[in-house]
Amino acid sequence: MTSAGGDLNLVHAGALSCIADRGTARRGSTQGQLDTIIDGAIAIRQGLIIAVGDTDTVLAHYGNDSVPVVDATGRTVLPGLVECHSHPIFDGERHDEYAERLGGASLAEVAARGGGIWRSVVATRSATDEVLLARLERAFKRVLAGGVTTLEVKSGYGLTVDEELRELRLLHESRLFTPMQLVVTFLGAHVVPRDLAGDADERADEYTDLIDLKMLPAVFEQGLAEFQDVTVEDGLFTPEQALRLIRRSHEVGLAVRVHADAWKPSQGWRTAVAGRAISAEHLTYTPDAEIREVGATDTVAVLLPVAELIYMTDRRANARLFIEQDVPVAIATDYCSSIHATSLLATLATAAPWFRMTPSEVIVGATLNAAYSLGREASCGSLDVGKRGDLIVLDCPHPDEVCLAVGAPLLDQVIIAGHDVTPRR
Ligand SMILES: [Zn+2]
Repeated sequence: MTSAGGDLNLVHAGALSCIADRGTARRGSTQGQLDTIIDGAIAIRQGLIIAVGDTDTVLAHYGNDSVPVVDATGRTVLPGLVECHSHPIFDGERHDEYAERLGGASLAEVAARGGGIWRSVVATRSATDEVLLARLERAFKRVLAGGVTTLEVKSGYGLTVDEELRELRLLHESRLFTPMQLVVTFLGAHVVPRDLAGDADERADEYTDLIDLKMLPAVFEQGLAEFQDVTVEDGLFTPEQALRLIRRSHEVGLAVRVHADAWKPSQGWRTAVAGRAISAEHLTYTPDAEIREVGATDTVAVLLPVAELIYMTDRRANARLFIEQDVPVAIATDYCSSIHATSLLATLATAAPWFRMTPSEVIVGATLNAAYSLGREASCGSLDVGKRGDLIVLDCPHPDEVCLAVGAPLLDQVIIAGHDVTPRR
């Protein structure tokens, strides 16, 4: 279907949504602008987009080139989806915890029986490299099958210097298994390890020291991550501890993401914006007053509807208020040891009614805004001339169908850099 060099003409798309990049993430009234072309076409040469427009115009310039052609008549074409929040490197199973919660157990009860992230840390530390790589390979196939062409991957189930560095190295090695572009994030400050001495406060202080003085310098010196992710959550890391790690991150030149307010109002959103984080993620319990106080910002609010569903939170992130306050909103799966959601397409169908966002708004949240949240806007997130030729072809006449055809096999083709990388079922 595609040539060795990444050359391709795609023509006659029923709806080709460019989500044109105007130099900033979409926010406010622009959050839902898809810039859809009817009978659209796109020309990709040597992996890069060189023309986008209506089919007649694109073919007038590039129709005589002998390149592979995709006829997308009656179908929808979107930029390749950008998944900006995943924790794919772990071992062990936690389905029993979910079953217990659904059966009425509280989080505290599940934790008292040995459940939670710490259980995954113990299992991951004792897993071989081969086992972890095999799990990554399987997860990546599933993520690709959900229309994703760029994927953020976090460490965070190691929580010692050696184990965090091992996870980051394996995440880099795992590029061999997938055509997706991977963006590697160091998440040492995921939770506080239980095997340190002292009470909870002492352990949090000691572990913050370890990240600040040992882990972060090693990650940076070895060039193992593009981002540091820091949790701000009551009972885990305080805003002060997080800001210390954020400041150090900026000093060494590692951009910052923040896990914020997933379980309780913890001043996570305010801290992320004060720390000039590129994104803040979860935001389930961020109070409305804090969203209003912080107001407009470039920090992208990454919202995780499936996490809220599976954790059965009694509040949802207030997507409408973030949008109203001119905050760019992105949507992601939160694939991790306790949430095995790999389809970003299915996550979008969940996000729309869950957050009362329109189909266009959630699609922007998984393309252009997600690309901005990863600092990858120069290469992906929209169908613009000069960006990599990453796109998906969906078997539906209109992009809104993404949110209605729940669970339907809409994904016909995945193209990365002009190459057909469609997963075979
Ligand atoms: Zn997470």
